[in-house]
Amino acid sequence: MRLWFESALLPEGWRKDVRIDVANGLIAAVMFGVQPEPGDDRHGPAMPGLPNLHSHAFQRGMAGLAEVSGRSEDSFWTWRETMYRFVAALDPDTLQAIAALAYIEMLESGFTRVGEFHYLHHGPDGRAYDDRAAMAAAIAAAAQESGIALTLLPVFYAHADFGGTPPRTTQARFVNDLDGFARLIDDSRHALAGLDQAVIGVAPHSLRAVTAAELAVVTTLLPDAPIHIHIAEQTREVEACMAWSGQRPVEWLFDRAEVDRRWCLVHATHVVEAELRQIAASEAVVGLCPITEANLGDGLFPARAFQAQGGRFGVGSDSNVRIDAGEELRLLEYGQRLTHEMRNVLSNGPGRSTGATLWSMAFQGGARALGASGAGLAVGAPADLVSFLPSHPASVGRHGDQLIDSWVFGGARDHIDSVWRAGRKCVSGGRHHDRERITARYVDVMKGLLA
Ligand code: ZN
Repeated sequence: MRLWFESALLPEGWRKDVRIDVANGLIAAVMFGVQPEPGDDRHGPAMPGLPNLHSHAFQRGMAGLAEVSGRSEDSFWTWRETMYRFVAALDPDTLQAIAALAYIEMLESGFTRVGEFHYLHHGPDGRAYDDRAAMAAAIAAAAQESGIALTLLPVFYAHADFGGTPPRTTQARFVNDLDGFARLIDDSRHALAGLDQAVIGVAPHSLRAVTAAELAVVTTLLPDAPIHIHIAEQTREVEACMAWSGQRPVEWLFDRAEVDRRWCLVHATHVVEAELRQIAASEAVVGLCPITEANLGDGLFPARAFQAQGGRFGVGSDSNVRIDAGEELRLLEYGQRLTHEMRNVLSNGPGRSTGATLWSMAFQGGARALGASGAGLAVGAPADLVSFLPSHPASVGRHGDQLIDSWVFGGARDHIDSVWRAGRKCVSGGRHHDRERITARYVDVMKGLLA
């Protein structure tokens, strides 16, 4: 298959008149400065698809259901109670229906791989399904039907709070012991067997949910695989960690685990200078989820200081309250502008495009965190591409990095025209080819769940 683009972001920068040959889902050849030939599938400007490094797909179904004030100090913790109630009703079929909708929306917004931080393992009574990975298989099936690439991150969850507190009944569907978790990993591998370019990692849920001894076992189960953990998202979590251990969460983690480039520290919102330096030096990726962090009132990660130390980050849609790759980048930058009272905070130096810098950091950081190729549009890399609608107002008269700036700051999901995953076009004219069926099934399922 041959694709031709009026311009494309190659590893060496933007080039005009680009032809990309695709074979077996991979890029087989890249040429630029060439005119289209009969039979070429012709498109506007293109870039590699962005990795979405942190998702809980099922939470798409509760978007908008936790926006009513509860107690006067409404917080993440009241949102979590709504989430626990929603979780109680889900089974593999309903999970697949919700995840598939989330995944087609990700593709339509410019994400081509998702890191699914998957903790909903067992049946409603807390007992494992006969197929221990039945819920993981539902996630894999949703990825398969949507076409998105999947990095599955089965979550180890054993405790309700710091110090090995026993889990609550509302957490029973998440909980494994170490033996059960090892079996879950094996069964999850089988669930991924038919899925093109799938990756599996492990995810100790948070320092609240694992003990130091469990953390040591879980992080050695899959050598070389990604390791993801929620950390320092909420000030209450930091205070509880201090009260329990005398240390801040990131400080505690670095004292007990070999944190390296395999790790993704999700949120890391509340960190001090010394912790930022440790994270940057470790080459771990920080997983920022700006829309969700804003929605939950988490706080702002000190991205400017982290970037100055050479730190790496990617972005994730996390709660999926709204799914939009460009908006994650926009909100990340705007949070920093509002804090520092200046413009172009994360542009990484004079004359550099902010949108392109944000995009490039999120692409490289996301690829690393998800165990995926960070090569971009290069021979041998997966043919995962996104093209912009040339006639969209955010495209007109823009060239090169201006296109990314216009998408991030002035565009929206409707700026995206086509999306290819492993060389297969799954979005045309901004719509996923199976949107109608997947949306109709989602509507049916949600009517049942919310009845
Ligand atoms: Zn999360």
